[in-house]
Amino acid sequence: MSTIAFIGLGNMGGPMAANLVKAGHRVVGYDVVAEAAVAAALAGVEVAGSARETLAEAEMVVTMLPVGKHVLAVWPDILQGARPGTLLIDSSTIDVDSALQAHALARQHGCLALDAPVSGGTGGAKAATLTFMTGGSAEAFDKAKPILGKMGKNVFHCGDEGAGQAAKVCNNMILGISMIGVAEGFALAEKLGLSHQALFDVASTSSGQCWSLTSYCPVPGPVPASPANNGYKPGFSAALMLKDLRLAQEAAMASGANTPLGAEAARIYALFEGLGHGGDDFSGIINMIRDKSVGRG
Ligand code: NAD
Repeated sequence: MSTIAFIGLGNMGGPMAANLVKAGHRVVGYDVVAEAAVAAALAGVEVAGSARETLAEAEMVVTMLPVGKHVLAVWPDILQGARPGTLLIDSSTIDVDSALQAHALARQHGCLALDAPVSGGTGGAKAATLTFMTGGSAEAFDKAKPILGKMGKNVFHCGDEGAGQAAKVCNNMILGISMIGVAEGFALAEKLGLSHQALFDVASTSSGQCWSLTSYCPVPGPVPASPANNGYKPGFSAALMLKDLRLAQEAAMASGANTPLGAEAARIYALFEGLGHGGDDFSGIINMIRDKSVGRG
C-alpha cells in the first residue's frame, strides 16, 4: 500500500486521513494546530514535524486547508521536498485562480496536480461517502481516483485544471441558497402553526425536497444527525459558507454570470457572521431568519 502525506487535519482532513489509514495506507500527516495532529495520531496517522517532513516516503500528497492563501503557502514548501512525478491533490475549497497557480507550481517541479474539492460535509468525511469533483490531466486523475475512492463514493473528473473548483463553487452557491429557502419554509410553518415534522414529512417527499432539508435539516428533530440537534455546532461553519458564496460572486463577476440569489445569499450570511455567528453551523441561519429585527433590507 502506498504512503500518503496529508496536510491539514481539521474537521474534514482528520477523518479523511483516518479513512486512508483504515484502507491500509501509511499516512504521514501534519497540522499547525497540535490538537488536530493529536486527534489524527489517535486514528493511526503518523504525525510529522512540518509539511515538508511528511514527504520523505510519500508518493502522493493531499492538502485539506482553509483557503487559497494557505494552499499557496504550503505547496511551494511541499514541492521542495517532492520527487518529480509526485501527485499533489488539493481537496480544500479555494478560488479558481489560486487553484491554477497551484497547478502551475506543481508543473514547474515536474509533479502532477489535481484540484479535488469535496461535498458531503464532516458526516461524509467520516463515513467515506464524500463526492470529489476534480480538475487536471487524465494522468493525474487516473492516479488519484483509487485513493479518492477510499475517502468518497463519487469521484468525478470535471475537466482541466480548475474545473473541480468551478464545480464546487456552483454547487455551494446552490447549497447556500437552498439552506436559506428551507429555513424560510420552517420559519413560515412555525408562524402558521404547522409542526416541524409535518412540514418535513410533506416537503421531503414533495417538490421542496433537497439536501438542506433531508440531510441537514435546520430544525431539531426530523434528521437526528443534523447540527440543529447539537446546538448548531459545525458541521460546516457559516464562515466557510460565506467564503464559498463570496468565491461564487467573484467567479460570477469575472465571468459575467447573472446570480442574483447567490448575491443575496452572500449578503445574508455576511450579516449572520457580522452578528457573531461565523462559528455556528451554516444551518443556524434559521435563527437569524426568525428574528424580524435583522436580515431585512
Ligand atoms: P478546518 O479549519 O477544520 O481544517 C483546516 C485545517 O488546516 C486546520 O486544522 C488548520 O490548523 C490547518 N492548517 C491551516 N494552515 C495550515 C498549514 N500551513 N499547515 C498545516 N495545517 C494547516 O476546516 P475544514 O472544515 O476541515 O475545511 C477544510 C476545507 O474543506 C475548507 O476549504 C472548506 O471550505 C472545505 N470543506 C469543508 C466542509 C465542511 O463541512 N467542514 C465541507 C466541504 C468542504
